[in-house]
Amino acid sequence: MSSTMPISQLIVSATGLILTLTLVLMCITSLTENQKKAAIKATTLLPIAFALMILPFSINESYIWMIHILTSIIIISGIYLFIPRPFFKSNQESIPKGKLDERTIMFARKELTPGTDRYNEYYKEFPEHLKDDEAFRRLPGLLSPSSKFYHPFAFPASGAIFNIVDSLHAFVDGKTSEAKTKQSPDKIASFIKEWAKKSGALSVGFTEMKDYHWYSTGGRGDRYGVPIEANHTHSIAFTVEMSHQMVQSAPKSSIILESATQYLNAGIIATQIAEFLRGLGFESRAHIDGNYQVVAPLVARDANLGEIGRMGLLMTPKYGPRVRIGVITTNLPLPVESRNYDDSVEDFCEKCQKCSTNCPGNAISDQPAQSLNDVIRWQIDSDKCFNYWNQAGTDCGRCMNSCPYSHPNNLMHNLVRWTIRNFPNFRYWAVKMDDFFYGRKTRTQKLPQWFDAN
Ligand code: SF4
Ligand code: SF4
Repeated sequence: MSSTMPISQLIVSATGLILTLTLVLMCITSLTENQKKAAIKATTLLPIAFALMILPFSINESYIWMIHILTSIIIISGIYLFIPRPFFKSNQESIPKGKLDERTIMFARKELTPGTDRYNEYYKEFPEHLKDDEAFRRLPGLLSPSSKFYHPFAFPASGAIFNIVDSLHAFVDGKTSEAKTKQSPDKIASFIKEWAKKSGALSVGFTEMKDYHWYSTGGRGDRYGVPIEANHTHSIAFTVEMSHQMVQSAPKSSIILESATQYLNAGIIATQIAEFLRGLGFESRAHIDGNYQVVAPLVARDANLGEIGRMGLLMTPKYGPRVRIGVITTNLPLPVESRNYDDSVEDFCEKCQKCSTNCPGNAISDQPAQSLNDVIRWQIDSDKCFNYWNQAGTDCGRCMNSCPYSHPNNLMHNLVRWTIRNFPNFRYWAVKMDDFFYGRKTRTQKLPQWFDAN
């Protein structure tokens, strides 16, 4: 036996042990997540990992060369895969330019009624939208009984929740108390952070408001055509979780019920904080579903809650895009942390493209990020996306449920997300592993059992 043999033995055996433990963890995690195929694949690989673990102790001396070759492969691959992030050139963050006109977003265009002055004026100004908008108006529509994924309980339940969200619009803004609190902004901020989390928020951050956070012109209801005054200096952004189980059945009806539920949760948290701040003597406005004056994902990004990915949603570190966002703008000078840009999300999105593969509306580009208005980013085709929603009757969410970042917040997936963040060369293989275990074309799960109806 050569003198280097014990180290080689150790390296091969330890690698086998790590792989065995990882596969056992993968197996258990997959079973708890009802991912039976992933569990079967992990179990199938277990004997190979186990064989690697015991190989150095059972191999005949004349085959020791195999152990040396395996050791070399493990060392070279290990060094390559786990070169830490600081050794790579990082990308520069793209800063958006200009303001978005809310009248041009799909939800605002949906509210236009043919034959009205507003309708005629809009399409005179934006004739390029007329053809696509006429197409979605011919479709069944969101929550329609004649849509593809109609559900006799989930659709009326979602409608009921959205009505309650609408009733919260009365509380987004209000009179500011003339008596200003003597408490410091830092103390108020730390109270808000903990209170929001107690109320169900996953993460909370603060940022200064920038021009590009605001819509230029209101597009919905009474705000239609009214210029939006960017009159608040700071904002609070927070996220609430979309249930993994409910998202897994997307684009079936569970997704819209979960969206409605989390819009309501975000709406309650945002309106109560805005009302609280006005009571303390600071101007404040909540931005909630159907009543935004800001582009919420951009505000949340600048508050360090995540990054914007290929599908155009906020990608958070532990829940990926499986969140809804709430925003409160205010003139309280909140303590703002400097921006902590994480370029790993965009780099991973470059390699992944899984949302694009799975999008039933063909709305997500599979191309590299492009320069749009001098900003390098992806832009989804919101006309195609909205068109699909109006066929499905739900807000789809297929991109959300196929995204590798959307896996639940547990040891296994957090380990993978941490490795993706810190080791750039691992990212390509992480995509391949996700494809292997969950499929490139991911499976849509059945609706939860309690959705059973006649
Ligand atoms: S919501 Fe559905 S249609 Fe829209 S981009 Fe995502 S996957 Fe595509
Ligand atoms: S599915 Fe992949 S490409 Fe799409 S947003 Fe998620 S990580 Fe990025």
